[in-house]
Amino acid sequence: MKYPNPYFILLTLLMAAPLYLAGQTDSMSSDAKSKYMRPNDQIITDDMLNAYPAYNGSDLGLTYSNKKSTFKIWSPTAKEARLFLYDKGWGGDTLLIKNMKKGKRGTWSTDLSGDQEGQFYAFQVLVDTTWLAETPDPYAVAAGVNGHRAMVVDLAKTNPEGWDHDQRPPLNSISEIVLYELHLRDISMHPSSGIQHKGKYLGLAETGTHTKSGTMTGLDHIKDLGVTHVHLLPVFDYASVDESALQVPQYNWGYDPQNYNIPEGSYATDPFDGRVRIREFKQMVKSLHENGLRVVMDVVYNHTSSTEGSVFNNLVPKYYYRLNDHGGYSNASGCGNETASERPMMRKFMLESMLYWVKEYHVDGFRVDLMGIHDIKTMNLIADELHKIDPTIFIYGEGWTAGDSPYDAQERAVKTNTWKLHGTAVFCDEFRDGVKGNVFAKNAKGFASGETGLQESVKFGIVGAVAHPQVDNKKVNYSQYPWSNTPLQCINYVSCHDNHTLYDRLRNSCQGEPDEELVKIIKIAQTLVFTSQGIPFLLAGEEFTRTKFGVENSFEAGDEINQIDWKRKEQFGELNEYFKALIQLRKHHPAFRMAKKEDVQAHLKFLDIPNDNILGYEITDHANGDSWKRILLIFNTNKTGKQVTIPEGDWTLIAVNGRIDESGLGNITGPKANLQPRSVLILAEEN
Ligand code: CA
Repeated sequence: MKYPNPYFILLTLLMAAPLYLAGQTDSMSSDAKSKYMRPNDQIITDDMLNAYPAYNGSDLGLTYSNKKSTFKIWSPTAKEARLFLYDKGWGGDTLLIKNMKKGKRGTWSTDLSGDQEGQFYAFQVLVDTTWLAETPDPYAVAAGVNGHRAMVVDLAKTNPEGWDHDQRPPLNSISEIVLYELHLRDISMHPSSGIQHKGKYLGLAETGTHTKSGTMTGLDHIKDLGVTHVHLLPVFDYASVDESALQVPQYNWGYDPQNYNIPEGSYATDPFDGRVRIREFKQMVKSLHENGLRVVMDVVYNHTSSTEGSVFNNLVPKYYYRLNDHGGYSNASGCGNETASERPMMRKFMLESMLYWVKEYHVDGFRVDLMGIHDIKTMNLIADELHKIDPTIFIYGEGWTAGDSPYDAQERAVKTNTWKLHGTAVFCDEFRDGVKGNVFAKNAKGFASGETGLQESVKFGIVGAVAHPQVDNKKVNYSQYPWSNTPLQCINYVSCHDNHTLYDRLRNSCQGEPDEELVKIIKIAQTLVFTSQGIPFLLAGEEFTRTKFGVENSFEAGDEINQIDWKRKEQFGELNEYFKALIQLRKHHPAFRMAKKEDVQAHLKFLDIPNDNILGYEITDHANGDSWKRILLIFNTNKTGKQVTIPEGDWTLIAVNGRIDESGLGNITGPKANLQPRSVLILAEEN
């Protein structure tokens, strides 16, 4: 989630300006043009909106064949509705204006005979005495440049070769998931990437790419790292990048939704022909799948980029949004509005939209932005329906909002309600900030960087946010009680696109320390992530000390700040190898991936070590079917070496002195163990 600021609004206005200047205002969905008021300024209330007849048919949007195209919208308040047909996605000639026929339960529809493929269309409705702005409908699946008009497409023709045989890579259980969070541009933009299609869907589909000196980059690198899922920041059609001017450097994370069921145009080699982005998106998914990687989409149903001029408001004013007591828009998103998932047609839309991405694009999971805005009933309906298709489709989200919502917090999918969600996971900020320091205090240290008093917050994540007799929840930084019933609903991480990269945070909080020391802290922090119960999550490039040069909220900071510099992989190659070994360690040992809280409670035991900068625990009795009988992990964040008492055993050294080797790096028996300064000690007993 980005945090909007005045610069963002200014940028948006500046980007829209060339279109206005060109005089092409015929169907511009501007806030100003489509502002709608009830006669006599009558306030629209929740009761009025809830009384609208919901439509439960599955044919909203375009139904295409080469003989006929049928267009259907839902607009229960409309007195009239009409369809516009164009030869271009912007400008060009109006081919036809056709009145639509009123149907059941607020629907309007019309047919066009013949093959309309390649034509562009928009709708307009008359509400009270106002013709609202021309608009694509929310269900549009293709659009022209900048998403102002929808496009008639034959989806079957957009499939790349072999698409029918595309399959999700195998995954036995969601416990096996390792998430890798990536902005599509960042992987390819740097000159050192060696990737041809820079900033494009096709760039992530390229294999065999490398730096000049032969270091693997792009998709090959991700595959080699060993993660299971590539989580893409928004790749649906968003508003902030002008797709008609891609020669001008532009960058945005994309948390400003415009058309939910259409891929973003700026990542396509041709944003004008709506079929190209669909085909190239599918090509990307196929290539990732062929390389054993599943694909997660970051979805942002919690608000729309434009408020008055959104695809929702242009057809049914205010219906899809929550309102405050004065009839205005409430703003839990911090972006000017918040959607109302509890209303039947918004609930239906979210569900059908996610089903569509799964069925048409073979997407394997969703990261739900500001999920705390959505109601639990909707999130559970979505989870249930997606899991009917495949129980390993993974859904997780931010269990918080960016502002107050008028909707009852007990009914919303906020973190503290995780136990009410059907398998949907949430981000564990207790662990994140416990390990590296509070994200809102940019110089703060965490346990890994030597801070004291944070052990319980770290332990909260180690057990996967379930109840545990040795976690004192009253001392946990943010939540005073466990919020999950299974570790698999807890996403453990130390950094994501928001805020500093881990390296940048450590640069702030450990000033004056050389890179060599920061790498030691990074190893401690990420070893905590990858050995904890729960689902591990990694921001792309952290495996070789990615930097955004100290910029936190880099949502529009450009490629220079955001792109992944592959030369750093050469410089920090040893760290990258450490990550690979760490991920393999997790994959080989189910003891780190328990699904039941009872197993965690029975098998995970914290050691009693009287030093606030040393944290240790043991996993016992071949937990979760592990080949190792016992595993002992000790994290020393002191700058000096320490000796601690450990349970006696026939221990093999698995990780010591900044190295991991599952085949063993030596043996000890206890009861004393020496800890290197700032290091992780992992011991295993075979039988
Ligand atoms: Ca766009």
